[in-house]
Amino acid sequence: MKKIAILGSTGSIGTQTLSVVREQKDIQVVALTAGSNIGLLEAQMREFRPALVCVAEEKAAEELKVRTADLQVKVVSGMEGLTEAAVWPESEILVTAVVGMIGLRPTIAAIEAGKTIALANKETLVTAGHIIMPLAEKKNVPVLPVDSEHSAIFQSLQGAAGNPVHRILLTASGGPFRGWKKEDLGNVQVEDALKHPNWAMGKKITVDSSTMVNKGLEVMEARWLFGVDPSQIQVVVHPQSVIHSAVEFEDGAVIAQLGTPDMRLPIQYALYYPQRRRLSGKRLNLCVPGSLTFEEPDMETFPGLALAYRALEQGGSMPTVYNAANERAVALFLDRKIRYPEITELIEACMDQAGVIPEPGVEEILAAEREVYEYIQRKAFR
Ligand code: NDP
Ligand code: MG
Repeated sequence: MKKIAILGSTGSIGTQTLSVVREQKDIQVVALTAGSNIGLLEAQMREFRPALVCVAEEKAAEELKVRTADLQVKVVSGMEGLTEAAVWPESEILVTAVVGMIGLRPTIAAIEAGKTIALANKETLVTAGHIIMPLAEKKNVPVLPVDSEHSAIFQSLQGAAGNPVHRILLTASGGPFRGWKKEDLGNVQVEDALKHPNWAMGKKITVDSSTMVNKGLEVMEARWLFGVDPSQIQVVVHPQSVIHSAVEFEDGAVIAQLGTPDMRLPIQYALYYPQRRRLSGKRLNLCVPGSLTFEEPDMETFPGLALAYRALEQGGSMPTVYNAANERAVALFLDRKIRYPEITELIEACMDQAGVIPEPGVEEILAAEREVYEYIQRKAFR
């Protein structure tokens, strides 16, 4: 029995991880965490019987304790609790499926404790890749990608036999507004941005996909996971989402991973790596999409991607500024406090006013995040 802990078990990745666990039957879930959805968390506790659970607020933890008094389980809360779940002694693999920079401290603590990381929480790597990857190497801890593109790259590298990567071809669906022009985006409503053509995901990443900020974050994620220079990462818009990404080698050979858009595959691959297991669900029939198409990303209409390359080039704390500005801007957009184009405008404004701290430590990363939040607070509610 493999033993796993899941941070963010009530979300899109978290519930799909549990569906893999349910199907495979030889994984034991030892710790689960949620933000505030204690209804779903309680159901998961009753089904999977973890030894530890955590929720964000203490009050919700108290309520959950009462509701699950018949179970043998420790219920904790807050960042301390999230970290306790991340380092829970029994677990071997930590699935990081929380959304946002909140995953930073627990992920670092888990690596320190020697846990294998199945990483979905890209924001953590975007802000602290320079801390996480060397630490994982030092501790001899694998960081296995769950993000579908990065899993595809990782799978494509399995036959590399030590040959270096020449280029990464990072595919993007282009989102619901592919082909639109800048002036069309002014009236985009929350409901429009939450309609992704190919994937069903959490709200934040769905909005990120529509602005192409998700692809920007993924360029940064790929930079750290695969140790390549940003200039070696080419984003290719591929609306059918059949090719999940590819690697080009020195001789020009391109190796790709293809499949239906189903996150359970990369989740399962990370949980069982290097083993492949049977997975239920639809199989790829190449004759169904009929044709696969590719185009250059439109960085003028979607400046979020160009800003990501700029943040990477400036380096240090700038990816944190990019990420934190986006996290707050998306939350404001979902609350209908700002208009859609203001998401990337706010990211740019935050980057323009921020200084770069080279090689920031965890405290400096969190301070840079706070500064961005304060700046947006002042700017967005003038
Ligand atoms: P969801 O919003 O669906 O789920 C987020 C999870 O984090 C939920 O369990 C949520 O709990 C929990 N959470 C939210 N806020 C807090 C908080 N303040 N403290 C503790 N826990 C909290 O997100 P996704 O599953 O879509 O995404 C998770 C991560 O995976 C993101 O980093 C995303 O970029 C990445 N990813 C997702 C993909 C997808 O297909 N969904 C694909 C590739 C990457 P609650 O339910 O109680 O709010
Ligand atoms: Mg992805």
